[in-house]
Amino acid sequence: MGKQDHLGVATAESAPVVAADRAVEVVVGNEHGLHARPAARLVGLVNGFDAVVTLTDLDTGKGPVDASSLSMVATLNAQQGHRLRVGASGTEAEAVLAAVENLAAENFGDAVVETTVPSPGGSGLDVALGPAVLAGAGVELGGYVAGDNEIGRLDGALATAGDQLRELGDVHGEIFAAHLALLSDRKVLDDVRTAISGGQPAPMAWKQVYDGLAATFEGLDDAYQRERAQDVRAVRDRVLRLLVGVTEEAPTDGILVVPELDAATAATLDATRIAGIAVRAAGTTGHGVIVARSRGIPLITGIGDVDVPPGVVVFFDARTGSFEVAPDEDRVRATITEREGERARAIADAEQPATTRDGRTIDVLVNVGVVQDAVDARGADGSGLVRTEVLFGDRRTAPTVDEQVDAFRAIARALGGRPITIRTWDIGGDKPLPFLPQDREANPFLGERGLRVFRRRPELFRDQLEAVRRTAAETPVHVMFPMVTTADEVAWALQELGPRDGLEVGIMVEVPAAALRVSTLAKDLDFVSIGTNDLTQYTTAADRTNAAVAPLADGLDPAVLQLIDHVVRNAGVRVAVCGDLASDPQAAVLLAALGVTELSAVGPQVPLVKAQLRQSDLGRVDTAAVLAARDAAQVRGLL
Ligand code: PEP
Ligand code: MG
Repeated sequence: MGKQDHLGVATAESAPVVAADRAVEVVVGNEHGLHARPAARLVGLVNGFDAVVTLTDLDTGKGPVDASSLSMVATLNAQQGHRLRVGASGTEAEAVLAAVENLAAENFGDAVVETTVPSPGGSGLDVALGPAVLAGAGVELGGYVAGDNEIGRLDGALATAGDQLRELGDVHGEIFAAHLALLSDRKVLDDVRTAISGGQPAPMAWKQVYDGLAATFEGLDDAYQRERAQDVRAVRDRVLRLLVGVTEEAPTDGILVVPELDAATAATLDATRIAGIAVRAAGTTGHGVIVARSRGIPLITGIGDVDVPPGVVVFFDARTGSFEVAPDEDRVRATITEREGERARAIADAEQPATTRDGRTIDVLVNVGVVQDAVDARGADGSGLVRTEVLFGDRRTAPTVDEQVDAFRAIARALGGRPITIRTWDIGGDKPLPFLPQDREANPFLGERGLRVFRRRPELFRDQLEAVRRTAAETPVHVMFPMVTTADEVAWALQELGPRDGLEVGIMVEVPAAALRVSTLAKDLDFVSIGTNDLTQYTTAADRTNAAVAPLADGLDPAVLQLIDHVVRNAGVRVAVCGDLASDPQAAVLLAALGVTELSAVGPQVPLVKAQLRQSDLGRVDTAAVLAARDAAQVRGLL
């Protein structure tokens, strides 16, 4: 086995070099790279052949590593687009390489990109109560008494854990297949056995090695991969419980407390069991947060490092920003009942227009990532944002014009023929499209994003515009271009679009330069739609995916609001907001008071945004004080 890192765990950094007789090259197409689940499929496949298989990441130079070890394959940390050299020796070398090539061609089994947003499953409330579910809560080892045959105890625990995981896998699918692969990782098990032979009791040896493996995942630079340390800790604790004889599993129903929230976790967690998510990091514009919100899962961010013992009942109220450990349950249940009533009334009135007390009617629309978002939407006056790169994000090949028309038609139909706003492909930054590979960039958010991508290669853009025009012949359609910076870009996009034939055309205002010169950019347009998520990150120079700077990326920062105010005053056309600020009912009232006439929100928030607008008097909002405020906190105090 290879040399070991300081924690005694074999990882990709400490791999043995094994000579291979044959080799092929494959490319990692998976959005999150060769993370734990696709890696588990690869390991499972390799272990079925009589061959020694190695992997080398040709883009990072890491490897070769043993492809039969999940810890080695996953911590190789091969990212999307990386080329892997797969080497094999042994009697079935040729067969295993062919099988690996097939698996790679199928995206290592990730048929559906995991950030695809499933239909809403949460309560849609902004409050939640339940026992805290912590990743890796830990098992008490204090009372453990070692016996004569610690290896035998370990083997017994492993066998039982394996049975449990196979049973769970039958019901809940793949996550448990990855756990099973982690449980039977030969390299890691060798380390545990070595530690036991050196005199350590089985639970301590097991814990030390799996803690080391979790730390290795946590040290990876990809946020999604870092989150997979949760899988390692779950396997660690399952075996520890068996070793120390604890039968009770830590609660899995309750409030999930996580350091950060990635989109895949938000998209795949079981909303029938997780009543809410409390994120330690601040920030509300990352895609994990957007996905959780669009599923109606109660969510609070920025709870910080408050001590939360696992299993203890916690309550949060995202509206007031409070997070309580062991709250007065009667009091908080009363708050929950009140919010449930409020939500039920808002849903009952959802189809009514959002006319404010001083008589201004604001259109409230829904943001759509999958057709189901439109199906589930209550009271939406159409869609102010169809994220096409999400709609087709699970595709390995570009959708045809017909397929796009079918999807757009289905969205329009679900919204009762009300206008839909199709945003052309917005890729780049943190949104890759499997069928449109991009060059690696040092600063992808400042690189070829959105419209910029297509100036060099317009074919996919042209196909999409064709689909937009065809859909517009049947149903009201608006089209908008993302990530616009210059007047030349607008002119180019309009030229590509050709005759408008009643189609309403707009741009997204996401770049401060576009906000400042909106009067020039909007000259030939029907509307502009402010993308507050990106406008906030570019105004505050705070990456929306970086938890460390999340407190800076606050859409209520007065600097962002001043830009919005400037856009409203100077656009000369209808101004919408489709960024996530529009999903916050209080912020929605402020945006309307600033002069925005259309708001597009995540589905579960549409009825609440409408209800809040109906109760408001826009003339009474002190916009001057808000714009002159010192910071976002002061703005909140004024709302
Ligand atoms: C935005 O930037 O506000 C926006 C709506 O676009 P996305 O979140 O998809 O980047
Ligand atoms: Mg954007």
